[in-house]
Amino acid sequence: MTAISVPQGFETRTRHDELMSRHTSWHVGGPADLWFMPRDLADLSAFLGQLPGDVPVTWVGLGSNALVRDAGIRGVVICPHGSLNSLERIDETRIRAEAGVPCARIGRQAVKWGLGPAEFFAGIPGTLGGALAMNAGAWGQETWPRVEEVETVDRAGVIRRRSPSEYRVGYRSVVPPARGEWFVAATLKFERDAAASTESIRRLLERRLASQPIGEWSCGSVFTNPPGDHAARLIETAGLKGFSVGDAAVSTKHANFIINRGHARAADIEAVIRHVQETVARVHGVRLQTEVRILGETA
Ligand SMILES: Cc1cc2nc3c(=O)[nH]c(=O)nc-3n(C[C@H](O)[C@H](O)[C@H](O)COP(=O)(O)OP(=O)(O)OC[C@H]3O[C@@H](n4cnc5c(N)ncnc54)[C@H](O)[C@@H]3O)c2cc1C
Repeated sequence: MTAISVPQGFETRTRHDELMSRHTSWHVGGPADLWFMPRDLADLSAFLGQLPGDVPVTWVGLGSNALVRDAGIRGVVICPHGSLNSLERIDETRIRAEAGVPCARIGRQAVKWGLGPAEFFAGIPGTLGGALAMNAGAWGQETWPRVEEVETVDRAGVIRRRSPSEYRVGYRSVVPPARGEWFVAATLKFERDAAASTESIRRLLERRLASQPIGEWSCGSVFTNPPGDHAARLIETAGLKGFSVGDAAVSTKHANFIINRGHARAADIEAVIRHVQETVARVHGVRLQTEVRILGETA
């Protein structure tokens, strides 16, 4: 493990060897060399400006779509959750949210403001930053059609505004115009929606609860749906529900979820992922692609 010297003045917002299992919804992942939670945008920009250029930088939000390997992450891990937390209404239909704001808060607040379609955000257990990186979506809605502008920071701490046309956006895929740039905020545009209500959010969350193993340690859908089909159907009909390695198991409730039953390692989850991919390829002739982002080093 590399001892990274903390830029001067940032000691209270950094932690050495922070276990990533504390920051992922699968509750797995070894230590990050250095963990940084910025106080605000200016603090983040100053930190990056002072960080030696050869230190790798990784971002996580709520770790709800991240498989961090057992040997952890070299370099700095930046987490905006809990600090880049501002959510404001700019005008009748537009809001600005910083990257650390949980999607659930955006969904609930937009509905209170009478804006839609925003209910889908309420069921996504990540941050806005993660939703922008993933083009998160549910129930036929996605993040990027709502984006009017994003604000990013680069490795040197420079903040930029970018328009959606600069990104190549697809299903759970976002290709940025430049490497080494991360989302710090976005302006989202909705419509006045008289039907948007906390009741419709409640109904969507109930539908989730009925079909997904909510409450168990997972990362949501592990694989993207191949064109014209559903990963869950392919996995289930390949007989893989309940397949396990150690404490990592294909959910018996929703076959596209892998559950950590308590003491799974990232290596166990990766072994289940590989077995599912190989079996589905053999049975159905389809190679499933992971939606989940795999970060860090193997032990
Ligand atoms: C029970 C459950 C249900 C789920 N349901 C859905 C669903 O319906 N639809 C859906 O789309 N997803 C779903 N997910 C997956 C996940 O919640 C989303 O992908 C979410 O957008 C990830 O956000 P996060 O903040 O947790 O990102 P993380 O998991 O922390 O990170 C995901 C990726 O984004 C990158 N990233 C994070 N923040 C930033 C940033 N600020 N700038 C640049 N890159 C960044 C990370 O480096 C990583 O590559 C579900 C997950 C769970 C556990």
